[in-house]
Amino acid sequence: MEIAIQLTRAPISEPLPPPSGGGAGAWVEFRGIVRGEEDGQAISALEYEAYSPMAEAEMRRILEMLAVDRPCLAARVIHRVGVVPVGEAAIYVGIAGRHRSEAFALLGEFVTRLKQDVPIWKRRAIVVADLVENPTPSPPSDPGKGFPRPKTAHSAAEVLSLLASLCAPLPAERAPLADAAGRVLRETVCAPDDQPPFDRSAVDGFAVRLDDPSTRFRIVDDIRAGDWKPRVLQPGEAARIATGGALPGQNLQVLMRENARVEGAFLTALCRDGERNVRFRGEDARAGQKVVEAGSPLQPGALGLLASIGCVRPLVARLPRALHLATGNEIVSPERSPERGQIRDSNSTLTRAFLSPWGIVPEQRRVAEDAAWVKSALEPLEPALDKVDLLLISGGASVGEHDFTGRLLEELGFTIHVRRTTARPGKPLIVAQRGGALAFGLPGNPLAHFVCLNLYVRAALEAWAGQGAPSMFHTGVTAADLVTGGHAEETFWPAHWRLVNGAVALTPLRWSSSGDQTPLATANALIRVNAGFQRLARGSRVEFVSTERPS
Ligand code: AMP
Ligand code: MG
Repeated sequence: MEIAIQLTRAPISEPLPPPSGGGAGAWVEFRGIVRGEEDGQAISALEYEAYSPMAEAEMRRILEMLAVDRPCLAARVIHRVGVVPVGEAAIYVGIAGRHRSEAFALLGEFVTRLKQDVPIWKRRAIVVADLVENPTPSPPSDPGKGFPRPKTAHSAAEVLSLLASLCAPLPAERAPLADAAGRVLRETVCAPDDQPPFDRSAVDGFAVRLDDPSTRFRIVDDIRAGDWKPRVLQPGEAARIATGGALPGQNLQVLMRENARVEGAFLTALCRDGERNVRFRGEDARAGQKVVEAGSPLQPGALGLLASIGCVRPLVARLPRALHLATGNEIVSPERSPERGQIRDSNSTLTRAFLSPWGIVPEQRRVAEDAAWVKSALEPLEPALDKVDLLLISGGASVGEHDFTGRLLEELGFTIHVRRTTARPGKPLIVAQRGGALAFGLPGNPLAHFVCLNLYVRAALEAWAGQGAPSMFHTGVTAADLVTGGHAEETFWPAHWRLVNGAVALTPLRWSSSGDQTPLATANALIRVNAGFQRLARGSRVEFVSTERPS
């Protein structure tokens, strides 16, 4: 399907012609017009914001996914951002299909998914009073009337979009290979010379001339790996050679040891096939050839490759410096036996292990939470905070009497962008920023903590690292029925994914609350379940996030 997507600040012009050719039998269109009312009050405009690369990628991904079951020929999407006055179109979608019914089906489903999933942030309604009657609005006596209500909860897609715009790639630095595991390469590395750099034997055996038809040879040399013994072999001569040994000359073949009978200084070839058994100079990579692309996370194999070509201080993204505070009067070190009413702190271990594949080792502290905590936590934190890129605070992100994270962050001078999400588990989530430092208030409940790390903190790490990940959402098929109970919120359902016959099969895991720990034993995926779904039958195509770091 041909897809064209555009985000624009200009009014959406019309009419838009359908794409030409291609056997399209139908062209269906949708225009989303801004209406004069929002939440029961008169408005004059809506303001939309979007992080274009992400919004466009999301729209494309959804169209491609939907088109698997509803094949169409072309799709055009134009979304307007900025202030869109009442009566004008905020969105235009046109679908070309062979049949009208197919085009309609795709259009309808896409418009539904667009509202749910695409991170275009309707920031505020511009009320009539703001523009006409009251150009410089003063606070109203009843804050519930006449002014737009502040947005209290954000969808997961909105939070992800926000994070992508808050986290610019961190500067690059050179790091020794031993410290580069999991970090993202910021330069494309080329082989400085041919790999392998000389012709080497692929087997243990005997080097003989290719043009020598003999079956009986005199052994004239012994070449071990590491030796450098060039010589011209004569017909009837053979050089014993070990795997990895440098061939003594050109146009040779290595007879495998298994196919030779050795008697003293002579050997008889039991069979001579055409196999050269040589790893030729430059067959793996030519001098100057790209071997690792910028934007790749350095996995063990890539690190070994860099070592093989002598790239011992690759240019990588600077690691974010992370501080993690686990809060709560009830939590004790996992080494201790909890008193009654206490529980072991599991989120500190989870957080450390989550950050480890990125090469990040956080500084960690366990702090009690009480009214004095806010004050006492401030002083020791201040000096450390100036050097911190990522502040993670587990627990206390909710709205209880003893939930202090939001207050603490405000007192530390952070601007709070998100106080709550609409996705579960993980609704109590704070995202705040102070200069280049980003803070997350994470829910203490372990399953919710796991989900928030794997969705939101991961998004920040990917953006900081400059990793060329197109989208954290993948597509797979459920291996069992998933009965959700029809929650009103979008759900990230813990699951285990594995490959079955080359396809991703996702087994949903049983969980009853965000406080559960046992699903975490095997969870390596989060299935994205749209709000309101009652049941997804086995074999359903779903989107999921892998909690294993993609490469
Ligand atoms: P909170 O987010 O502080 O309201 O905590 C929600 C739930 O998570 C409570 O049941 C806490 O006891 C639990 N919790 C908070 N912090 C941790 C932690 N570090 N490890 C395990 N459970 C925790
Ligand atoms: Mg707490």
